[in-house]
Amino acid sequence: MPQNTKKSSIDSSPNPLESIIFGPVRSRRFGLSLGVDLSPSHKQCNFDCVYCELHKAGPMDSMEVVLPPQAVIQAIKQALQVHRAIDVLSFTATGEPTLYPHLYEVITAVTPFLPQGTKSLILSNGSNLVAQKHALNAFDMVKFSLDAVVPSAFKKVDRPSKSLDIAQILQGIREFASSYKGELIAEVLLVQGHNDTQENLYAIAEFLRQIPISRVDLGSIDRPSAYAVKPLSNERLQEMAEIFSGLPLMLPSRVSSKNQDSQDDLAQNPPAKSSPRSKETLLKLIATRPIACDEAAQIFSPQELAQLQTLIAQGAVIIKQQGGNKFYTAKH
Ligand code: SF4
Repeated sequence: MPQNTKKSSIDSSPNPLESIIFGPVRSRRFGLSLGVDLSPSHKQCNFDCVYCELHKAGPMDSMEVVLPPQAVIQAIKQALQVHRAIDVLSFTATGEPTLYPHLYEVITAVTPFLPQGTKSLILSNGSNLVAQKHALNAFDMVKFSLDAVVPSAFKKVDRPSKSLDIAQILQGIREFASSYKGELIAEVLLVQGHNDTQENLYAIAEFLRQIPISRVDLGSIDRPSAYAVKPLSNERLQEMAEIFSGLPLMLPSRVSSKNQDSQDDLAQNPPAKSSPRSKETLLKLIATRPIACDEAAQIFSPQELAQLQTLIAQGAVIIKQQGGNKFYTAKH
């Protein structure tokens, strides 16, 4: 990928460790996961997906605010000294982690410090796999999104940067998959009226059958999203699943967000830390990622829950319904 030549700056948070590292959180599929956010202070992504749980933001081709790699490496090493019993170290971003230009430097520097039995994982939108293949080859697991193969559906659901072309992205996934030695997982997220046509689904399934894939996660929206879009029902997802016959498909089993397992529960649910987060930090967290009401009790300390009530009383945080769940969201 093009190396970023724009300004290099560290997150404005007074504690980079707190903003870069989150968790560990429990994931049904990956176990106990410690998260790394490579863009903790800004949304930086080359997509602007209609279902994004972050705020709307125009897509960018490269990160404009880049964490110094040594700060990321140091934060990860410190966190690994504290959290020795994790199953997975998960790289994400408020945006797209493969846009981080120092990914190779970071993953190769921290891999020797992973506790025995701990795997590395990256959660990507799939647009940049070839450009970052040297870095991605160093990960034990790569999970990528593939919401569309039909070009019109791709533009409608993922709202990509003008420089991106779905044919090139597919070629990139194919090329990367052909030599990657780790576990490759695909995620397909369907949005009503955007990418749920049979034509698109058959094309996705056909594409995935041609590459060595360990698992395909098929799902729909279950959190408040950047745009006003509708999810598919679980019944409809079940019907769609037949199109993916022959593939190692997993459907969401959840009816409540307590069972959530996907990028969300790795990236969206930082648990309570040993010292309570400030009201401002909580507001920033919720503004970035809506938190399910029934998860708040698990991930926030009593002091933080009290702060949350104050934010609600002040009107800074409101409760929104999405599907069968309620979420704390920031009032923009
Ligand atoms: S959902 Fe992921 S890929 Fe899509 S805009 Fe949000 S951060 Fe980017």
